[in-house]
Amino acid sequence: LWRRIGNGIWKGDAMSDLVVLITKAFDFTARKHVGQRRKGADQEPYVNHVAEVARLLAEATNGQDPVLIVAGLLHDTVEDTDTTYEKLKAEFGQEVANLVLEVTDDKSLPKDVRKRLQVETVGKKSDRAKMLKLADQQSVRDHQQPTDRLVLEAAEGYFEWAAQVAEGCRGVNGALDEAFDAAHVAGIEVLVGSKSNF
Ligand code: ZN
Repeated sequence: LWRRIGNGIWKGDAMSDLVVLITKAFDFTARKHVGQRRKGADQEPYVNHVAEVARLLAEATNGQDPVLIVAGLLHDTVEDTDTTYEKLKAEFGQEVANLVLEVTDDKSLPKDVRKRLQVETVGKKSDRAKMLKLADQQSVRDHQQPTDRLVLEAAEGYFEWAAQVAEGCRGVNGALDEAFDAAHVAGIEVLVGSKSNF
């Protein structure tokens, strides 16, 4: 049932190896994101975001794709921490490392270019990368707590952009498509509701 990933990480088909792999990824990502906080009023620890993405992926695939779940936990480590592709490959195997790389932006480009490229390129990515992006786009709590009008307007722009990225990810996993739509509608409702505050 399970495919082997990496050298020496995965010694058999035993569930226990999977448990070790996933908890190892959780520990790794928590340490790497240790000082980072999400935007938004609650200032949640960043690791809350990657935990949510991994949980969404696990639920949407009924726990059948550990590579996807591990990559979900690690998906922002190369982009936002000092983690390298080589390190991920050594610790978690090439399949995981390649998937993380597929959803990693080129940080040398300006932010608006990176966002445009995401919309343009996501449709050509692998099914796993599309699922990961879709889960990433619906983990949006930090955009739902605008503290002033400027933040509110930025959040509206974010939701518009997220919908464009999501468009290119649809059709791989129905549960994720539906979950994105529900999160998106709920998020916009919160934004609209908060408008009267400013
Ligand atoms: Zn993310």
